[in-house]
Amino acid sequence: MARQDWNTFGLTEHQRIIRDSVLDLLQGVMSPEKIRELDRAGEFPFEAYRALADAGWMSLPFSEEVGGSGGSHKDLAVLVEAMAYHYASMATAYLTTVIYAGQHIALHGSEHLKSTYLPGIMDGSIRMAIALTEPGAGSDAAAITTRAERRGDSYVVNGQKLYITCAHVAQYLVAAVKTSPQEGHLGISILLIPTNAKGVSIRMLDTLGRRSTRATEVFFDNVEVAAENLIGEENKGWRGLMKCLNMERMCLAAAGAGNMQHVIDYAKDYAIDRVQFGQPITRFQAVAHKFADMRIMAEITRLMTYRVAEMLDSGIEPRIETAMAKVVSTDNDFACANLGMQIMGGAGYMMEHDMQRFFRDSRIGPVGGGSNEIQRNIIAQMMGL
Ligand SMILES: Cc1cc2nc3c(=O)[nH]c(=O)nc-3n(C[C@H](O)[C@H](O)[C@H](O)COP(=O)(O)OP(=O)(O)OC[C@H]3O[C@@H](n4cnc5c(N)ncnc54)[C@H](O)[C@@H]3O)c2cc1C
Repeated sequence: MARQDWNTFGLTEHQRIIRDSVLDLLQGVMSPEKIRELDRAGEFPFEAYRALADAGWMSLPFSEEVGGSGGSHKDLAVLVEAMAYHYASMATAYLTTVIYAGQHIALHGSEHLKSTYLPGIMDGSIRMAIALTEPGAGSDAAAITTRAERRGDSYVVNGQKLYITCAHVAQYLVAAVKTSPQEGHLGISILLIPTNAKGVSIRMLDTLGRRSTRATEVFFDNVEVAAENLIGEENKGWRGLMKCLNMERMCLAAAGAGNMQHVIDYAKDYAIDRVQFGQPITRFQAVAHKFADMRIMAEITRLMTYRVAEMLDSGIEPRIETAMAKVVSTDNDFACANLGMQIMGGAGYMMEHDMQRFFRDSRIGPVGGGSNEIQRNIIAQMMGL
C-alpha cells in the first residue's frame, strides 16, 4: 500500500528519516499476514520488538545522561505515529515499557534503579508494564487499595490490579501501591515489582482490539519487594504519576494519528478499485466527502499532537493542550475507522480485510489512558469551570 497523503511539513530532515526508517524496518519484519496472525492469536510482537531495539529505537526518549539518544518529544511523536501506522499494537508494545513504565524510572528512580534497569529497557531485553488500575479504582485512580507495608528492608504487597497491558510478557511491573492507606492520593508510592516474585500471579484477559498487547489481571499475595525498588519517595508517587501524564497522552495522540492515517490509506486503496453503477465509488460525492472528513480529522490530530510535542520540547507543561490532543486524536481515530468501515461496505466487516482490525484497535483510545470524559473534566476544570 502506498503511504499516501502524509504531510511532513514542519518535520526536520532527521524526523523524516525517523519516520521512513521505522516504517521500512517494520515492513521488513512484520508483514500484513504476520500482523493478522499475531492479532488472531493475541500474541506479543516479539520479533518486531527485538528489531526496534536492535535498531536503537528504545533509547530515543531517554536522555544522553542515562545512556539514551536524547530525542525530542517531537521525535518521539513521529516515531510513535509511524509505529502505530504499521500496527497499533506495536506502538502499545513500545509505549508500555519505554514510556509508561520506563519514564518513571528515568525521571524518578534512584541511581541504582536507573543503572540497573534502563540499559535493559534500551537494549530490548527488559520489558515492563504499568500497573495502576484496580477493580475499584479506574478513573478514580487515587482510590487504589493495593497495600505495600514496610517491613525492614522490604515491602510486603497485597492486592489486585486490573486491565494491565502486557504484564504476561513483562519481567517487571511499575506498580502504584498504597503505603499510607489513610492518606488518599498522598499515601501512594510506586514500586518496581518483579513478575517472577513469589506471590505474583497473572491472568490473561480477552480483548476486542490491540490483541498483541493483551490486558491482564495481576494478583499480589504477600509479595516481598526490596525497599530499594521504591521509585521516587515514599508517599510521593501521585506526583510522579501526574508528571508523566503529558508525555503519555502526547504518545496516545500520536498513536491515534498513525492508526487513523492507515485507515485512510487502506480505505482509499479499496475504494478507487471498487466499481458500482459503472464507476469507482470514490466518484460518488457521499463517499468522497467521507474521505475529505477523514483527512481533515487526521490533519487536525497531527497538528495538535505536534504542537503539544513542541510545547513539551520548549519546557512548557501543556496540560490542557495534551488533554485536548488526546481527546481529538482518539475520538477521531474511532470516527475514521467507523467511516472506513462504511466506505468498504460488506468487505469492511469481513475478517479477511484489515479494516475491522483498525476499527477494533481504535476503540480503546477514548477509554484508556484517562477516559475522554476525564480529559474533558480536566479541560473544563482548567477553564475555571
Ligand atoms: C485494553 C485496556 C488496557 C489497559 N491498560 C492499562 C494498563 O496497562 N495499566 C493500567 O493501570 N490501566 C490500564 N487500563 C485501565 C484504563 O486506564 C481504565 O480502563 C480507564 O482509566 C477507565 O477506568 P475503568 O475502566 O475502571 O472505567 P470507570 O472509571 O468505571 O468509568 C466508566 C465510565 O464512567 C465514566 N466516568 C468515570 N468517572 C467519571 C467522571 N468523574 N466524570 C465523567 N465520567 C466519568 C468513564 O469515562 C467511563 O465512560 C487498560 C484498560 C483497557 C480496557
